[in-house]
Amino acid sequence: MTTLILFDIDGTLIRSNSAGRAAMAYALTKACGTAGPLDSYHMGGKTDPRIITDLLVAAGCSPEEIQNKLPIIYDLMTAQAHETFPGKGIQACLGVPELLAALGQRPDVVLGLLTGNIVSTAPLKLGAAGLDAGQFRVGAYGSDHMDRNQLPFIAMQRASQLTGEPFEGTNTVIVGDTPADILCARAGKATAVAVASGWHSAATLAQYKPDHLLENLGDTEKVLEILLASQDGQSNANTP
Ligand SMILES: [Mg+2]
Repeated sequence: MTTLILFDIDGTLIRSNSAGRAAMAYALTKACGTAGPLDSYHMGGKTDPRIITDLLVAAGCSPEEIQNKLPIIYDLMTAQAHETFPGKGIQACLGVPELLAALGQRPDVVLGLLTGNIVSTAPLKLGAAGLDAGQFRVGAYGSDHMDRNQLPFIAMQRASQLTGEPFEGTNTVIVGDTPADILCARAGKATAVAVASGWHSAATLAQYKPDHLLENLGDTEKVLEILLASQDGQSNANTP
């Protein structure tokens, strides 16, 4: 059986040093004259359109106005990302290059992204961290849907179309660093692998009962074992 493994980006594959936040601040200010309460906003696990909508609603914009402005905001974010991401010190998380190299060797794995980033900035973040975005054969992005919990279905459908093999929750694993990633895996009936390499501690993530919980992705052999465990139909809770 082939397994679809979907990685979140920020806090899971890379540490972005607030590069995305800065690009969004620039785009919102340029397009709308305000970034709303961005400095105090908790972005973790949320999609970019969710964040933009929350910030602009708080700043007094109407939903129609926000909807109309999204394309220009995305364009500005992307242009800013091209310019600034390379100098932001974006880095791959511990063990990620090794893990991706190992997964890339496996004919029984389809690698993908499931991220709140929009489709045009996600590869720029990965590239700035020295990761080849092209190794991820499918993706579901914030620009596909505001609600992260809809993204597993989009990714599974794209993987099925790409490979001709059926992908559903039973052969899909979602790896992420926030409670929202765990809930999103649940929504898609996929295996939830939580990793405490972002802003949330293992203790916090444990409260959301992921199928597997890791401090980081540093131990390639152990992580491979966990990611591929669903191929045997296993889905056992596992704490560090
Ligand atoms: Mg994340």
